[in-house]
Amino acid sequence: MQRVLIANRGEIALRIMRACHAAGLEVVCVYTRADSELPYLHLADDTVCVGATSYLDIANLIMAAKATGCDAIHPGYGFLSENPEFATAVEAQGLVFIGPTPASIRDMADKARARQIASDNGLTPVPGSVIIQDPRQLTQLAAQIGFPLMLKASAGGGGRGIRVVSSGESLQSEYLEATAEADAAFGDGAMYAEKFIERARHIEVQVVGDGEGGGVHLGTRECSVQRRQQKVLEEAPAPFLDQTATEKLLAAVVGFVKATRYRGAGTVEFLFADNAFYFIEMNTRLQVEHPVTEMVTGVDLVAVQLGVAAGSALPPELHNVEIRGHALECRINAEDEQFSPSPGLIESLSLPGGPGIRIDTHVKAGYLVPYFYDSMIAKLIAHGSDRPAAIARMSGALDELHVSGIATNRNVHRRILEADEFLVGSVDTGFFERSIAGQL
Ligand code: ADP
Ligand code: ADP
Ligand code: MG
Repeated sequence: MQRVLIANRGEIALRIMRACHAAGLEVVCVYTRADSELPYLHLADDTVCVGATSYLDIANLIMAAKATGCDAIHPGYGFLSENPEFATAVEAQGLVFIGPTPASIRDMADKARARQIASDNGLTPVPGSVIIQDPRQLTQLAAQIGFPLMLKASAGGGGRGIRVVSSGESLQSEYLEATAEADAAFGDGAMYAEKFIERARHIEVQVVGDGEGGGVHLGTRECSVQRRQQKVLEEAPAPFLDQTATEKLLAAVVGFVKATRYRGAGTVEFLFADNAFYFIEMNTRLQVEHPVTEMVTGVDLVAVQLGVAAGSALPPELHNVEIRGHALECRINAEDEQFSPSPGLIESLSLPGGPGIRIDTHVKAGYLVPYFYDSMIAKLIAHGSDRPAAIARMSGALDELHVSGIATNRNVHRRILEADEFLVGSVDTGFFERSIAGQL
C-alpha cells in the first residue's frame, strides 16, 4: 500500500490524511464542486473532483483512485463506509478496501440479520423480531414484545429509520409509514420490531480484528447523550459501570469478533438497562467518536486500520491496552437554538488548547460551511486523569471556543456539562430530550 484515496470529506478526511502521511503513505483527496473550498485539499498529494455535490458515486470514486495511481481506498464514516457494494467494487478492481470484508459489511448492514449473528455468537440482542414480512404479523409480534416497541429499518443508520410505537391502535399505520420512509431513505423498506428499552444507556465497545480469527477490544464508550437517536457527546471509558459486568461484556465481544473472523476496526453497540447489556447493532467502520478511545488508550485507530489493511499482524501493544484516565468528546455542530442546521461563512474562529485538549476539525476562519452536508464542523476532545478532570478541561475548552458568523451548539454542551444528572452519572438516552432540549 502506497497511495490511499480518501472517499470522504470534512474532519474525518483530514484525520485519515494525517494518519496516512504519518505512516509514509501518499493521499488522494476527493471533493465535489460544492466542496472545492475545503481547506485541507492543498495538503493532499493529489485531488480529484468527483461530482457536483455527491460523494456516493461508486464508479467515479473508483475511477478517481485508478486515474491517480492509488492502491487503496479509505471510506471514513457515513457515505459509502457501510455499503457492501462499494467494498465489493473496490476489491474487484484490485484495490485494498481499508475496512472489513464485503461479507461482514453485508451481514452487519442488515440489522435484523446482525441481531441473529450476534445471538449465534454469544451476544444477547434486545428482545425483538426478525424482518416483518406481513403487516398482519404485527399484532402477534407486539403481543410477544409488548408496548412500547420500536420499529426499526433493517437498513437504517445515523439515527434514522427508527420510531417508537406506544400502543396497538397506531401499530399498523405507523408500520406502513415507517416502511415507506425506509424505502425512500435507504432503498429498502424492510423493518423489524424491538422492545423499547426505557431509561437505557448506550454503551459500545471498540474492537479490532485481524480477519483470521484474532481480535481485541479497546474498552468501552458511553454515548447516551443523544438527540433524536443521534450522539451529541461521548465518553471513554463508559463510567459508573460495575467492573465485573464490564469485563464479562468485553470478553463476550472479543469472542464475537474472533468467531466472526472480523477484519479491521469496528464498534459493537449495546443498550444497558436493569444490569444487562443488549446488542443493538455493529458499525463496521471507524466511529465518529473514536478519538475518546484514542485518548485513553494512546492507540491511533486509523494507523491500526492501515496496518490491518496492509496485511500486518495486530501490533502487540493492542493485546494489553491499559485505559488511562477519562476522555470526553463534544460534537460541535453548525446549528441554531432550534437545532436547525446553520451553514454559512465562518467569520472568525478561535480554538481552545492546552494539556489534554484535542480538536479534530477541517474548518477555519473565512471558510464557507456548505449547505449540502452534515452539520458537524468540529469535534472537541478533552482528556483528564479522571472524569471530573476531563469535565473541567472540557468546560474550559468550551469557554475558549469562539465561532462567529454561524450559530453552533457550544452552549448546549455547556448545559450538558452543568447538569446534575450528567455529573452524577444518571444519564440515559432520554436525558437530552428531557433535561436539555426542553430548557433552551
Ligand atoms: P457514529 O455511530 O460513528 O457515532 P453516526 O451514527 O453519527 O456515527 O453516523 C456517522 C455519520 O454517518 C453521520 O454523519 C451520519 O449522518 C452518517 N450515517 C450513518 N449511517 C448512515 C446511513 N445509513 N445513511 C445515511 N447516513 C448515515
Ligand atoms: P443507528 O443505526 O441509527 O445508529 P441504533 O440501532 O444504533 O441505530 O440505535 C440508535 C439509538 O436509538 C440508540 O443509541 C438508542 O438511543 C435508540 N434505540 C435503538 N434501539 C432501541 C431500543 N430497542 N430501545 C430503546 N432505544 C433504542
Ligand atoms: Mg447505532
